[in-house]
Amino acid sequence: MRGGLISKTITGQNEAISAIVPDVSVVVPIYNEVESIPHLLEAIASTLTASELSYEIICVDDGSSDGSAEFLRREAQTRNDLKAVILRRNYGQTAAMSAGFNHALGKAIVTLDADLQNDPVDIPMLLAKLEEGYDLVSGWRKNRQDGALKRLLPSKIANWLIRRTTSVNIHDYGCSLKAYRAELVADMNLYGELHRFLPALAYIEGARITEIPVRHHARRFGQSKYGLSRTFRVLMDLLTILFMKKFLTRPMHVFGLWGLISMLSGGAIAIYLTFVKLAFHQDIGDRPLLILAVLLLVAGVQLFCFGLLAELLMRTYHESQGRPIYRVREVVTKSVK
Ligand code: UDP
Ligand code: MG
Repeated sequence: MRGGLISKTITGQNEAISAIVPDVSVVVPIYNEVESIPHLLEAIASTLTASELSYEIICVDDGSSDGSAEFLRREAQTRNDLKAVILRRNYGQTAAMSAGFNHALGKAIVTLDADLQNDPVDIPMLLAKLEEGYDLVSGWRKNRQDGALKRLLPSKIANWLIRRTTSVNIHDYGCSLKAYRAELVADMNLYGELHRFLPALAYIEGARITEIPVRHHARRFGQSKYGLSRTFRVLMDLLTILFMKKFLTRPMHVFGLWGLISMLSGGAIAIYLTFVKLAFHQDIGDRPLLILAVLLLVAGVQLFCFGLLAELLMRTYHESQGRPIYRVREVVTKSVK
């Protein structure tokens, strides 16, 4: 892995710079993973040391209550390769990753989960792909070790939907093990569950994206932080992204279409009811159809549009304010001790 994006700088002044700018920053969001952390740090360190890359590990504690933060704080005070970013409370995985990105100094950024389901041994393989010229390399858990009904099925459906709608042809959006060129994530505005749509967002920015199979293990310690409810939130985020892409350029294509459909169906029902009234002299005043049409069309369309507008407002709000989606309690590194 010599030359190119993440090669080591070796002479004089450059050495000082390479000490500040590591080849790779490994970003790990952590929420109650105290048992996994020592194994994880060990695995990352041994892999990257063996591949002779300069690296930093950025562990973001996302409001853990099991002593993860305390453990990280102690470790970061003694290790050169660890930066602990401790958030004030639990903000969610996307926010934690975002915090990690904002504290990362590396030329390349690798993300992975703390629970040892992703295997750090795969990191050099992802980095090699970046060297080939890709901007984003996504892991594909071909042998995913998670419960079939609760995790595999929803994620299969979600991946299929995302693939169909975003034109980024990868199999496994949900895999946290990914590598990015640093500049790609530098100005990404993330919120909600958006970290899993990074390939789609990157694609919109013109990134070259690829996917490679990676190892996946069953969780050794603790439990998954997620259940079925996340699938719903992910789907809502997907809808937002899709409509946002159109809305930002041609709002009328979104609202116009719905307005048209609504007007046409309302008109059709009205014509039908008028016909019934005039041709057959029937009373249409208390027909369920009348009420149904009004309720469905008016309420449905309005709710949908309001939801969409609210999402867009939120997004615009985040972007215009530059308001962070997380707050940092403290950043612990050895040098700041
Ligand atoms: N995580 C986090 N904040 C949260 C939930 C999860 O930082 O609110 C971290 C968690 O510690 C882990 C990663 O995000 O490192 C993925 O979580 P988990 O393993 O529970 O998800 P799964 O692998 O089941 O999708
Ligand atoms: Mg996991």
